Amino acid sequence: MDEVSVKGWVRTFRSKRFLALNDGSVIHNIQCVIDFENTPEETLKRITTGAAVAIQGNLVESQGSGQKYEIQVTNIEILGDSDAEDYPMQPKKHSLEFLRENAHLRVRTNVFGAIMRVRSVLSFAVHHYFQDRGFVYVNTPVITGSDAEGAGEMFRVTALPAQNPPVNEEGKVDYTQDFFGKETNLTVSGQLEAETYAMALGQVYTFGPTFRAENSNTSRHLAEFWMIEPEVAFNDLDANMDLAEDFIKYVIRYAMEKCPEDLTFLNQRLQEEDKKKPAAERSEMTLLEKLRFVLENNFKRVSYTEAIDILKNSKPNKKKKFKYIIDEWGADLQSEHERYLVEKHFNSPVILFDYPADIKAFYMRLNDDGKTVRAMDILFPGIGEIVGGSQREERLEVLQDKINELGIDEKELWWYLDTRRFGTAVHSGFGLGFERLVLFVTGMTNIRDVIPFPRTPQNADF
Ligand code: ATP
Ligand code: MG
Ligand code: MG
Ligand code: MG
Repeated sequence: MDEVSVKGWVRTFRSKRFLALNDGSVIHNIQCVIDFENTPEETLKRITTGAAVAIQGNLVESQGSGQKYEIQVTNIEILGDSDAEDYPMQPKKHSLEFLRENAHLRVRTNVFGAIMRVRSVLSFAVHHYFQDRGFVYVNTPVITGSDAEGAGEMFRVTALPAQNPPVNEEGKVDYTQDFFGKETNLTVSGQLEAETYAMALGQVYTFGPTFRAENSNTSRHLAEFWMIEPEVAFNDLDANMDLAEDFIKYVIRYAMEKCPEDLTFLNQRLQEEDKKKPAAERSEMTLLEKLRFVLENNFKRVSYTEAIDILKNSKPNKKKKFKYIIDEWGADLQSEHERYLVEKHFNSPVILFDYPADIKAFYMRLNDDGKTVRAMDILFPGIGEIVGGSQREERLEVLQDKINELGIDEKELWWYLDTRRFGTAVHSGFGLGFERLVLFVTGMTNIRDVIPFPRTPQNADF
């Protein structure tokens, strides 16, 4: 018989006796049995859902069927009361929409406790993977002075007054008088800066918040999300694809090893949800089966050109074709095409590579055909794009031509071009949206449910 003490929050309290306590460390409630005959009525009344309590007692094998052990309480102290009637997290099943409106309290539920523990373990796995392989962790700036990458999607950072800011001769806001003496923005990606570090330290990675003012109210986009961006000198696109696949498998395996109980819980929850659906809409695999499938199979590697041929020859749906029919080489794939390739045609994660240059960013390595670039996207079932990466254009002149062609001011990128002027070399990297990874591993379907405080259009309450 071990004496234990534990602090946590009351989930439920039944028959003045059975207190289900959660301290946040694991999915399971701790069953505490109160000696109600020797506990003052006043104290019993204050054991309400949501209250914070400190418990001392003896850990014994449980007579009940729900758990192996229980605590026979010798002393209970109410640390913080909770009005059970007003407490939003009632001991019942809440909708995810309702929980989103209570982002500050939803983490007290089983589901969100599990998701956030898995998220935490996954972020540790990211560092583990790269640190074990000798990568250097680089913190790229959050405020950037170059807007070459994210035209239109950036959040401006300014210290100028909102009312009557200084204006220049053309009547436009004069950013030379702003804090940094120029226009500045929140970063959309740390890649360009990470490249300069890779060209000195060899293998680097960033893992930090990125910001995009894209007005896309989808279940896959956030205005603030975390991105993992490794960048490796002397690696070409094939090595980049190998790295991405190996990395994804590593972090998924890591989460499965470290969070078996949370993932089993999420798996069961999804199976229950699935049972409520009509047979045709039920998933073929459980969450855990999907995770194992990813670990055990090679991602399918397909060129953009091959993918277009598959799409052209496909009949996705007997009655309707795709909403956006792809009949021309060069068009960007819509998510319906990506889903078809991943979920119908290949039934596997897919790495698409060698995209048309015109639909990809300026820094990607031009192939010898002069029209495709060494880009790759990794597409996952149920998620869509999870990774975007490329081999970078290492040839100064080719890069300059591209920059000029796109009307980007070369002077803005003088520091970036320096890496090509002084000791340029083949290098490559990718960006993986951390929340999309967490979505896949937890089996959740809305990206707002895998980040503590989601930032989306019209939503920054907390
Ligand atoms: P998408 O096509 O889904 O809009 P993207 O091609 O614009 O993504 P990239 O610029 O390639 O995105 O960024 C790299 C990765 O960052 C993406 O593969 C995705 O995993 C993630 N990502 C991009 N935008 C967002 C967002 N708004 N919210 C969450 N993750 C994102
Ligand atoms: Mg986008
Ligand atoms: Mg994309
Ligand atoms: Mg992309």
